[in-house]
Amino acid sequence: MLLSWLVVLPLAAQSAPTTLLPAAPRFDAARAYEHVKRFVDFGPHPPGTAASRRVQEYLAKQLEAAGLRVELQRFTAATPLGEMEMTNIVGILAGEEPAALVLACHYDTKLFSTFTFVGANDGGSGVGVLLELARVLAAKPQRLTLLFVFFDGEEALRDFSSVDGLYGSRHFIEVGEEEGWLAAIKAAVILDLVGDRDLNLLREGFSSPALLGLFLESARRLRLEGFFSSRESSIQDDHLPFRRAGIPAVDLIDFSYGAATEPGPFWHTAEDTLDKLSLKSLKVVGELVLETLPAIELFVRQEAGRE
Ligand SMILES: [Zn+2]
Repeated sequence: MLLSWLVVLPLAAQSAPTTLLPAAPRFDAARAYEHVKRFVDFGPHPPGTAASRRVQEYLAKQLEAAGLRVELQRFTAATPLGEMEMTNIVGILAGEEPAALVLACHYDTKLFSTFTFVGANDGGSGVGVLLELARVLAAKPQRLTLLFVFFDGEEALRDFSSVDGLYGSRHFIEVGEEEGWLAAIKAAVILDLVGDRDLNLLREGFSSPALLGLFLESARRLRLEGFFSSRESSIQDDHLPFRRAGIPAVDLIDFSYGAATEPGPFWHTAEDTLDKLSLKSLKVVGELVLETLPAIELFVRQEAGRE
């Protein structure tokens, strides 16, 4: 009876205390949007900049305020521009089980010297949704341990390649292998470019088909399937190091930013600003993740049963 714990848990939770538990908060798109606004206000923040430090402090403070334990992964990355200091921010929400699900985004903005790039969507939108998810999910006991990971250095410092870009996620996998905790990570969900007011999430081709399928099922249940593209397309993003390590991972990304082409016209331009985003899109993605979490828990159990 794989489903039994899904049904039993909420009933047990209701009957345990003498008074009613406070209702779990709902995903508040206005709060998510406020985080994106703060992100943009910090200005461009490629790795190693003073602005990046300020964003790191903001992220850590928000995660701690939600009740999470925060760990910083500081590391030195070899880049085409020389060695650079980078920092992943990890918010830990301990669950009933050590088995962990990674919910992640990147918080660096791409380095451009010829124009101001604030990355409202490319960086900011994922951060806003993830911080709000941390607040919502920390308000009630979780079965899986949840790791909210904010990667540095997703963007290439020069031209994207196997050695330029995905610095933070590559480091996360490496250090997890070295320190022996990577085996506890059973799945990963990456959010990137999720705020476009014309939200058109890809059926991303490098994603684990099973995990992507769970999100598509949730979208149908919530009648949000219209926010998924009908086409499949493959994007190199922070889910790739997880996939290479054999961890199921999905990239929720809308790469047609500003038009139906990929990439859209606002991608990696000065046009990636707050006015291109909508609360509705942030809300859709937040609710999709919340709706899919129980199915991911079940997926992780089934995978564990097969080991
Ligand atoms: Zn980018």
